[in-house]
Amino acid sequence: MVIMNRRQTIPKHLRYTIQDFKSQFPDDEACLEHLKEQRFPGGITYCEKCQQDRKHYKITGRPVYSCDHCGTQISPMAGTIFEHSSTSLVLWYYAMYLMASTRCGISAKQIQRETGVTYKTAWRMFRQIRSLLSETDMQLEGSAVEMDETYYGGTRKGQFGRPMRGDKKKSPVIGIVERSTDKRVGRVKAFTTPDVTAERVLGIVHEHILPKSTVFTDEYRIYDRVGGRVKEHKRINHTAKVYVVGDVHTNTIEGFWSLVKRGIGGVYHQVSQKYLQSYLDEYSFRYNRRDQGNLIFNAFLKRVAELAALPVAVDRGMTPAIQEPF
Ligand SMILES: [Zn+2]
Repeated sequence: MVIMNRRQTIPKHLRYTIQDFKSQFPDDEACLEHLKEQRFPGGITYCEKCQQDRKHYKITGRPVYSCDHCGTQISPMAGTIFEHSSTSLVLWYYAMYLMASTRCGISAKQIQRETGVTYKTAWRMFRQIRSLLSETDMQLEGSAVEMDETYYGGTRKGQFGRPMRGDKKKSPVIGIVERSTDKRVGRVKAFTTPDVTAERVLGIVHEHILPKSTVFTDEYRIYDRVGGRVKEHKRINHTAKVYVVGDVHTNTIEGFWSLVKRGIGGVYHQVSQKYLQSYLDEYSFRYNRRDQGNLIFNAFLKRVAELAALPVAVDRGMTPAIQEPF
């Protein structure tokens, strides 16, 4: 069993334990039924071929539902990350549960040990799940936003930090985070970026921060022009070893960086530049829902349905995309 990073402070209604998981999702059938409900709330009612509402029934032994009039089949898995996978649905759900329940992330090695899937399969599952977690369109709405940059990799593999002498291949990352208010937790966005320039910074400010916001940064010159784009720009002088003056600090975004550093350094050890963004998305997704306790798992499940392509009816006699024994 993986040791969960489950803090006892999670209120009861926000708890979702491994026992809860096992009783809600004991097998593939239960997962398929859940997936069907997410994608077709109230059940599959419409048959595209009959062009009207029809009763659908589950075909025994196959993950499809069939129109009881013409036999046209619909697979709830079609168009989702589960399509074309030979891994059982309950294992997918379990992988999402683990990923949603740890603050620091979970490695493919851990799920390999626990479930017996190959490392390659586990790694692919995580990559697919991560692909659901990007929140590109989300705009920060908080009135106080911190912005900061960090760097990943380079000579010190798997490490974050400013480039050192001779460090050529570091991947820059820029982050923005709202400060929390009484009403809700502040959310974060983190971007890998080809370079760290004033133009890049302005692009991010323009795209993701409301003009009425106050933006907090350090004194690094790439932030020089931020003030022209927002209500107010306040800067802390880190080079003079000053970290907090009144409300002027970047501690919130630095807190997020340290969460990511602990996770990527401690759990994944090393992440290739190609996938760095998807790992940042994973950490951001959980961070942005940290007031939801272990119900973050529900948010993962919702994403599966939200990002699925519309399911296409399969004609009778044709083989559905998934052919796993149930
Ligand atoms: Zn039909």
